Amino acid sequence: ECVAYWMRMEDLRIVDNRALSRASSKAQQDSVPLIVLFVISPQDYKAHDRGARRIDFMLRNVALLKESLSELHIPLHTVSISPRKSIPSKVISLLQEWRASGLYANISYEVDELRRDIQTCELGTKKGMRCVFVQDRLIIDPGILKTKEGKVYSVYSPWQRQWLDTLNQNLDWLSEAPAPQANNSEVRQSKTFGKLFDSPVPEFVEGYQCEAEDGKNMTEFWPAGTEAASQMLDRFLNTKARKSQIGEVSPLTEGAESSAKQNRISEYAEGRNRVDLDTSSRLSPYLTSGVISARECVRRTMTFLKAKQVKGDRGSGVGMWVQEIAWRDFYNHILAAAPRVSMGRPYHEKYANVKWETSEKHFQAWKEGRTGVPIVDAAMRQMNVFGWMHNRCRMIVAMYLTKDLMIDWRLGERYFSQNLLDGDLASNNGGWQWAASTGTDAQPYFRVFNPVSQSMKCDPDGAYLRRYVTELAKVKGKEIHDPSPDTADAHRYPRKLVDHKEARERALRRYKEPGSL
Ligand code: FAD
Repeated sequence: ECVAYWMRMEDLRIVDNRALSRASSKAQQDSVPLIVLFVISPQDYKAHDRGARRIDFMLRNVALLKESLSELHIPLHTVSISPRKSIPSKVISLLQEWRASGLYANISYEVDELRRDIQTCELGTKKGMRCVFVQDRLIIDPGILKTKEGKVYSVYSPWQRQWLDTLNQNLDWLSEAPAPQANNSEVRQSKTFGKLFDSPVPEFVEGYQCEAEDGKNMTEFWPAGTEAASQMLDRFLNTKARKSQIGEVSPLTEGAESSAKQNRISEYAEGRNRVDLDTSSRLSPYLTSGVISARECVRRTMTFLKAKQVKGDRGSGVGMWVQEIAWRDFYNHILAAAPRVSMGRPYHEKYANVKWETSEKHFQAWKEGRTGVPIVDAAMRQMNVFGWMHNRCRMIVAMYLTKDLMIDWRLGERYFSQNLLDGDLASNNGGWQWAASTGTDAQPYFRVFNPVSQSMKCDPDGAYLRRYVTELAKVKGKEIHDPSPDTADAHRYPRKLVDHKEARERALRRYKEPGSL
């Protein structure tokens, strides 16, 4: 007999993991071993546009977790299941083989995953298992925050005020889930479970192998494990931003530039939009894969401030950063309330018929960072090499694809998902729909970024541009942001694909009357 915890690719941690914690207490109470199951599903990865980097990061984390759990005599068993529709029945059969009395998992909010879990739960219950699915991914659970009229919020600011009030009225939202208890060491000798300790975590999933150089970069700049995530958070709280870029200095060995007053988080309110400085936490891959909990991130800001309440105002660095963590909750709440966004539908249905351009040449140039707009190209090249892109740049390139090139946001969303290490349906979809004005932006469609003025603000000296668009490294002064055709030709840099002013007008026309050309 046993109790099983089904770990997913969004909750890759042992500490502060509610389902794992609950499964452990039940196992202790019933004096049976706790077993951890991890399902590998290549078909799901394909259907959900997962990239090799994300899968590689997942496996690197699972391998570390297996070791740590083993020290607690808890086996972690990985199993590859295909087709994906058979996951519920195969999971339940495996649990029956193990004579599991209970199955515990954290809730996923994506439609396919919800359906899978409901089916698993129904099958398990029929077989007499206790199936417990708990909320863990977010700080405040979906469905809690409502407008005065009892509706789901569709705009961030009022939602965020309620989020912060709700949190500060009951700080239990942030409480840490107790750590799992060790199994009795005899489980290692058990006929059924003993062998699970020895089965290795696969090094790769067929079709999702990083190219050698890429895999090396990812391992260096995105080390796996909760310890690495925690150090990343320390780095954000305790060291000041450098005038360096991701890739130049390894984040965990960059050396102490510790300072109580000057640190990334305190300077975040002003610094967060500077793409030439390494100002943000770079925690997104860890949060997306659940290597660190969002609760832990907010708790650490309270310890940092020695505060009894959560700070979430726009005026301070800490407050502003907590607001970013709140965005993650917000987009998951949207996903849970409007499942259509999981299925490629616009949040605002009235934009379902916007007419998109279909130039493969333009789309390819955007993907490769050859649009002739330096900030767009630098950002795309940054992502292509490091699996991560600065938030301001994500907004700029998404707005450029959808409003300047007038290419369907879903294509951009998919490319991001395939290449980002932090690719997450809720945040990625939310970001793309925000940029394409089909989503929750409080401003309507006429928010169209001018990429050149954006570039001048977020990279005033052009250091970021020179780092990634090496062709232009020798271009002096402000021209780096907007090279003339002659300069572009002289440096073998592409000329602009479209004229921003004309493209803007076309976008406004098409959004104003979806369906028009
Ligand atoms: P910090 O600035 O340090 O913020 C801390 C954390 O807050 C982040 O790690 C993230 O978990 C959360 N966060 C910050 N901004 C946002 C936001 N706008 N929406 C949701 N959560 C946020 N984020 C993802 O995690 N995965 C994605 O796939 C993703 N796709 C995006 C696509 C577009 C078009 C846009 C505009 C944004 C997207 N974001 C996504 C949000 C944001 O760009 C990243 O979370 C952020 O750049 C990660 O860097 P960081 O960890 O240093 O962030």
